[in-house]
Amino acid sequence: MTNEERALRQAIIDKCIWMNSSGFNQGTSGNISARWGDRMLITPSATPYEQLTPESIASMPLADETGAWDGPLKPSTEWRFHRDILRARPDAGAVVHTHSTFATVLAIARKEIPSCHYMIAAFGGDEIRCADYATYGTAELSANALKAMEGRNGCLLANHGMIAIGSGLDKAMWLAVELETIARQYYHTLLLAGGPALLSKEQIADTRKGFSTYGLQDRKSA
Ligand code: 13P
Ligand code: ZN
Repeated sequence: MTNEERALRQAIIDKCIWMNSSGFNQGTSGNISARWGDRMLITPSATPYEQLTPESIASMPLADETGAWDGPLKPSTEWRFHRDILRARPDAGAVVHTHSTFATVLAIARKEIPSCHYMIAAFGGDEIRCADYATYGTAELSANALKAMEGRNGCLLANHGMIAIGSGLDKAMWLAVELETIARQYYHTLLLAGGPALLSKEQIADTRKGFSTYGLQDRKSA
């Protein structure tokens, strides 16, 4: 393993530990992957993040259909949607999946997040869609997620959680935190008499114009 690959594996672990210690995710729900050439590096299934070392991250060929992997531990049960998103989205270098609370609350209600805040524009359109329900770890869930992610950088997964993608790990986690934040804010406005006032398509389009240079910029290492 090169030093560069080891550093990327460690960066995945660091993000996992951060997302739980910040209260953003819990237990071993959630998983993270990153593109490494023609392979995907992904967290192993059901393994406490503190126990992870660079060697325990699973490595899978992106072109493979069988789920074959290198590493001492089984890859995340969600390797299919991680692989399929990295295949379908050459712009994505990393995928973050969490069961963060407010995104999951809306996903349980099967509500998409409409244009309630200008930061919706960071996700590529007027709304953050909610993918149809399918059992965790299945090809059906992956297909539903890909559909909800079309032209978007994030989605909710019905009765499950959420996904965010980015050019690298930093950007993917930044968007994952933004998604959870908008979900929390939207949830609370639903409790107010009258509910939220939504932005127009034009207002979101206007915001998107500035977004190529706004927000977290990529670092070379992540
Ligand atoms: P893994 O522990 O297999 O990654 O599964 C957690 C999860 O979020 C399933 O959807
Ligand atoms: Zn999950």
